[in-house]
Amino acid sequence: MFQNLRELSHAAAEYILSHPKTSRIRVVSHYDADGITAAFIVCKAVYRKGYDFHLSLMRNPFIEGLERVKKEGNELTIFTDMGSGQIETIESFKGKKIIVDHHQYIKKESGKDLLQINANLCGVNGSYEACGATLSYYVAKALDQKNEDLAPFALIGAMGDKQYIGGLRGLNKEILEETVGKKMLDKKTDIKLPGENIYEALYYSADPYYTNLSGREEEINKLLKKLKINPRTKTRDLKKQEKKQLNSYLMLKLIKNNCEKNIIDTVIRERYWLKQLNIELERFADILDFCGKGGKRGLAFAVCQGDKEALAEALQNEREYKEKVLEKLKKLDEKGAEEKENFRFFYCENSSMAGVIAGVAINYIFDKEKPLVSIVCKNEELHISSRGNQYLVKKGLDLGAAMREISKKTGGHGGGHNIAAGATIPLNKKEEFLQQLDIILSKQFKS
Ligand code: C5P
Ligand code: ZN
Repeated sequence: MFQNLRELSHAAAEYILSHPKTSRIRVVSHYDADGITAAFIVCKAVYRKGYDFHLSLMRNPFIEGLERVKKEGNELTIFTDMGSGQIETIESFKGKKIIVDHHQYIKKESGKDLLQINANLCGVNGSYEACGATLSYYVAKALDQKNEDLAPFALIGAMGDKQYIGGLRGLNKEILEETVGKKMLDKKTDIKLPGENIYEALYYSADPYYTNLSGREEEINKLLKKLKINPRTKTRDLKKQEKKQLNSYLMLKLIKNNCEKNIIDTVIRERYWLKQLNIELERFADILDFCGKGGKRGLAFAVCQGDKEALAEALQNEREYKEKVLEKLKKLDEKGAEEKENFRFFYCENSSMAGVIAGVAINYIFDKEKPLVSIVCKNEELHISSRGNQYLVKKGLDLGAAMREISKKTGGHGGGHNIAAGATIPLNKKEEFLQQLDIILSKQFKS
């Protein structure tokens, strides 16, 4: 029997409001775009109710971060875009706890002083229909209907978690319709080519990644010369015919590269601009994601608050981050990855970027038949990021379950979603990890 999201959101609001206004509410969230927007929605909503808040944005596997927060002995801690996979640790915290999550849960019950809101327990698919920010938005609305103005942030979270693939659906779609109806967003069908000019837009196009073009100066100049487009032209100033030619070229490139149809469909699609800042939502999510993963978490929060200087600073920093991502993507594009029977894998140096790179590479570089895994060796640990696609999930893929099972066997921590998951395990368990993953995936695909 599914739980009722609206009832749970109201229960969460009551939990919050039962605290005196002098309490400071502790908020803990994941450090990616969804985690940041989920936290922003909750922080803003409790602040509007007169509460002070203290936010931490954390990365997996959250062990040290949670240890620190536990020691604080907070009266009320709200976990957004995380928590269901860490429920056993959270249960041992003092005070009241609320979990608002869309990752796979390990336990259905909410314990004493703990309220768990998990999309998957409410009959909502947490991989496709709602993200952490979507659920936070429900809690914010239960706190006060006036928080409806935070709806665009729920959608930015969904963009960050790539829930637009296959079209926004479920709760995300409901929020989209509500938001467009209230004229908070402008919509337009367009390609994603942000940047100072068309050369820059193509150079820094990491997602979508255009093989043999993204991050390659010579190739871009050659293409623009062929299309008779001045590389310094601002993207918005491209003539209709120029834009049409360029879009056709890019689409054809993806088709030739055997890119999956539902991925190609995400490149030119209906897009939504936040009127307040004139930023397209997927672009907004990209900025938050790289700020969070690039060590600029405070800046990400300031961007959500609509701080234009923060936004300008974030954009300044973005190039450096993208250069690094593109460098690795180009290597994968040229040299490929290592092959196992049921997955591909590659090594990476930066654990925060590894998941981003794996997510882009599976969609734009490799064929759809195998999940892609990145491995980072750091401080006696292996940081694993794994990515699949909707086609593989239909065939039985459940990366979250695979990561959890291997983590348990190897003394690590892992979990996530069926389509994207991760783990942190001891360094000396690498061979066991590779072997076990192949076996588990083979079983998943056979069943
Ligand atoms: O780190 P990465 O982006 O690859 O994480 C993918 C998904 O797996 C995220 O949703 C994250 O929360 C989850 N994950 C996890 N445990 C880990 C690492 C990642 O649950 N140790
Ligand atoms: Zn999320």
